[in-house]
Amino acid sequence: MAKYDFDLFTIGAGSGGVAGSRRAGSYGAKVAIAEAVRVGGTCVLRGCVPKKLLVYASEFARAFEDAAGYGWIVGETKVDWADMIARKDRELDRLNGIYINMLRSAGVQVIDGRARLVDAHTVEVNGKRHTAETILIATGGRPIRPQIPGIDLTMTSDDILDMKEIPERLIIVGGGYIAVEFAGIFRNLGSTVTEIVRGDTVLRGFDRDLRESLAGEMAKQGIVLRTRTQVTAIEKEGKGLAVVTDAGERIACDRVLYATGRAPNSSGIGLEEIGVTLNKKGAIAVDEWSKTTVPNVYAVGDVTDRINLTPVAIAESRAVAETLYNNNPIRMDHEDVPSAVFSQPAIGSVGLSEEAASVIYKEIDIYVTRFRPMKNTLSGRDERTMMKLVVDARSERVLGCHMVGPDAPEIIQGLAIAVKCGATKRQFDQTVGIHPSAAEEFVTMREKRKEPAKQAAD
Ligand code: NDP
Repeated sequence: MAKYDFDLFTIGAGSGGVAGSRRAGSYGAKVAIAEAVRVGGTCVLRGCVPKKLLVYASEFARAFEDAAGYGWIVGETKVDWADMIARKDRELDRLNGIYINMLRSAGVQVIDGRARLVDAHTVEVNGKRHTAETILIATGGRPIRPQIPGIDLTMTSDDILDMKEIPERLIIVGGGYIAVEFAGIFRNLGSTVTEIVRGDTVLRGFDRDLRESLAGEMAKQGIVLRTRTQVTAIEKEGKGLAVVTDAGERIACDRVLYATGRAPNSSGIGLEEIGVTLNKKGAIAVDEWSKTTVPNVYAVGDVTDRINLTPVAIAESRAVAETLYNNNPIRMDHEDVPSAVFSQPAIGSVGLSEEAASVIYKEIDIYVTRFRPMKNTLSGRDERTMMKLVVDARSERVLGCHMVGPDAPEIIQGLAIAVKCGATKRQFDQTVGIHPSAAEEFVTMREKRKEPAKQAAD
């Protein structure tokens, strides 16, 4: 008789947990996965997928405007928010079903309920105990808000997806991915949007030219960016709310979205009780194999707070499954992970920012181009694209590619392969462009920027 009920027991059926469990199942491992809410997790149900559907929905506003420049006569347009949300929810239900089916067809047993570790080999769900040789923690993260007076009057990204109507006046607190993405969505849907950031602009950690280009384009759309501002309280005011700032200002609005980061879901699972070490932020400490301080317990994805992106969680989890069940040891490679921000215009970025490269490399060359995308000529839309290459002057290796503009995520995904392969600027130059496209500008940049390299400001 087998020593344990399962070879692998995964806690959390989000993108990370599902990917590793399926991969392990496909190699013949006996796998169970427990999920406390709904199979699919943050990305599918509360994050990337519904957000991107709303980005698509909101982009029609721009398309209707642009169409006039191309000779279309567009009648009255109006969005039915309730219908849009109902359609989004139907799509999420469909995806939830697909995820459950994919798990089942890989032979993975799906257990509904909140799991808790009893010991290093035993998990309890709904009062029933299951034993497993290996445990995989993939419980993700959750939105966090600073505890200031009136914070319960505000929403997180979880709540905004289920709002009953589009707010006339929306205040967004935070300058990260979620904040700029929802600023774009609701501005296009007709809200007055004010974004309050504590730093000097949005998207700390990204290349400064990217950050400034996006902030400039957001301003042109009428999004009000309040920088170096902290919110001290939120109060009820009439039928709406008022946000009180550290400058003593009161800004009236209808809804407030807090997008001030996320925290790992690592409490209440019994981790520390069985000897799993957490770091100061509550993330599970893991080694390069995603192994925790308890040798048979692994952790992947946002709960480990390495690079908190869906494809990273998936890759980390599959690496565990390959290592344990396919005799194919894989350490997750966290170098040159590309990322996108679905702001409007969108951002795509891979490799080092100018500020980061200038700290590591003695001499760097910078190539920047800014232009009006062809589509905006007839439409007259006042929006510019920015592209940038960061190059190590000595080896000519391209260290970073950055873009703000339409299709940036699609374009940067392709360039990420070149960066990952260590392509040089010369090889970029030898690549023939596709004409007419925006992407071709990445292989036709000739002039080095003359100013000295920029250093990180915050
Ligand atoms: P981020 O970590 O991206 O940004 C948090 C923002 O909130 C920063 O601007 C930060 O400012 C600010 N902030 C933090 N604490 C406070 C505070 N107490 N008061 C005021 N401002 C504060 O978090 P998000 O919530 O936007 O997103 C969470 C994660 O989800 C991201 O890190 C990303 O990994 C993932 N995600 C990825 C997406 C994608 O790939 N397209 C889309 C959405 C989310 P400061 O910079 O000064 O610290």
